[in-house]
Amino acid sequence: MSHDPNCLFCKIAAGQIPAAKVYEDDELLAFKDIHPAAPVHLLVIPKAHIASLADADASHAPLLGRMLALAPKLALEQGASNGFRVVINTGHDGGQEIHHLHLHVMGGPRPWKHG
Ligand code: 5GP
Ligand code: ZN
Repeated sequence: MSHDPNCLFCKIAAGQIPAAKVYEDDELLAFKDIHPAAPVHLLVIPKAHIASLADADASHAPLLGRMLALAPKLALEQGASNGFRVVINTGHDGGQEIHHLHLHVMGGPRPWKHG
């Protein structure tokens, strides 16, 4: 499995940096975003280093599918029972700051939208 020793999320996947993990299996890890932008804000990552969605190809389709399929399960478990957003920032113009593929899952009540 590819690992970039300078990559923050590779270090989290390897257990070298702590994170509030909510899910783990052989291929994937999910943990709470350290600066949550919503009441529920999770990051789902592959343990293998893939720099961004732009570096994924058809061979990654099963992995990408598993990441996406995990999102609703974790959103519900973490209390986002009334909906959530899934975002994959990609590349410089996509606002990606950590260059290890990750899927944001953001949910929970949005009182500023619903009054
Ligand atoms: P991006 O802008 O690359 O799509 O999102 C990176 C996300 O990683 C940001 O929402 C940021 O708050 C989160 N993040 C950055 N460093 C850490 C960290 O050390 N631990 C955790 N749990 N989240 C982090
Ligand atoms: Zn990495």
